Amino acid sequence: MPSRAPLTDSFGRIHTNLRMSVTDRCNIRCFYCMPEENVEFKPRHEILTFEELTRFARISAEMGIEKLRLTGGEPLVRNNLCDLISALSQIDGIRDIALTTNAVLLEDQARRLKEAGLQRLNISLDTLNDDTFFRLSRRRGIDKVLRGIAAAQEANFQKIRLNAIAIRGLTETEIIPLARFALEHSLELRFIEFMPLDADDNWGAKAVLTGDEIRTILEEEFGELMTSERSDPSQPALDFHFKHGGGKVGFINPVSEPFCSDCNRLRITAEGKVRNCLFSTEEWDARELMRTGKSDEQIEALLRDCVQHKKLSHGIDSPEFQKPERAMYQIGG
Ligand code: SAM
Ligand code: SF4
Repeated sequence: MPSRAPLTDSFGRIHTNLRMSVTDRCNIRCFYCMPEENVEFKPRHEILTFEELTRFARISAEMGIEKLRLTGGEPLVRNNLCDLISALSQIDGIRDIALTTNAVLLEDQARRLKEAGLQRLNISLDTLNDDTFFRLSRRRGIDKVLRGIAAAQEANFQKIRLNAIAIRGLTETEIIPLARFALEHSLELRFIEFMPLDADDNWGAKAVLTGDEIRTILEEEFGELMTSERSDPSQPALDFHFKHGGGKVGFINPVSEPFCSDCNRLRITAEGKVRNCLFSTEEWDARELMRTGKSDEQIEALLRDCVQHKKLSHGIDSPEFQKPERAMYQIGG
């Protein structure tokens, strides 16, 4: 039982999910996320320490946060990440720890991550093709990613999911090969619509390849997709299974079908800014409180204020929509 009152916003949404960015650095340069060159990373002393991240997670858990997801930047570039996972897994009330990764460094780390207490993995896999991987991420390395996925499967995580970005004119050709790969490896696959969070401002509504369009492409190849039962209404994906054969496929459609009304997520950036939405234009500075000796109650008050200011929806489709100043790698996807 949480020892503090739940984190409820002004629309009655109870927050149980925290995404923690452990770094803004990354070993590749996906064009839909990072700038190609001259990336400005935060100096290391600005990044939250493991002790600060653990304290923040503990206070959040006392307010009902049950699920943590570590992300970045690329979380596996942070040294000794397993030590953080071990500490987080000992917090009362945390019942699920997941991580999102590009898998370039996963081969070496998968087993240790599992042993440290990591339960679930989301692996970003946009293509199986080396040249397409280079075009999207401006680096080589699909072979490492595929070896990382194999190592993760050997390590026996509770769940491994593949996430693929959906961008019109670029990723249509990847849909069928990715679905076949997922089916062959008994992995769940989810497609995520391109969001206005790229550093180079290339996003436009026309570049969004919608979940519905991908579904049509998949059905032409594999036959009808049947809706899967939704066990958790706050999870953002619409899940389906293939009528002929076992695999599952999901669509995260933040642009064409926003799911804000059930959102239960909060975020903390690598340097300790708390955000109530990916698209929030306001932030709350938890690092400042932690580094100036403030009490748990003062951090609790900051979290409540942040949650109270959460808007009903992100409003991407509204004429007043303002793109956040930060790109995805600076927030934590
Ligand atoms: N580096 C890790 C990775 O790529 O999995 C974790 C961080 S990354 C920011 C988390 C997820 O955000 C990835 O699956 C990536 O594809 C997704 N992402 C990044 N930029 C995006 C954008 N503009 N629109 C939609 N998804 C995006
Ligand atoms: Fe790095 Fe992930 Fe952003 Fe790609 S999406 S540049 S892997 S942080």
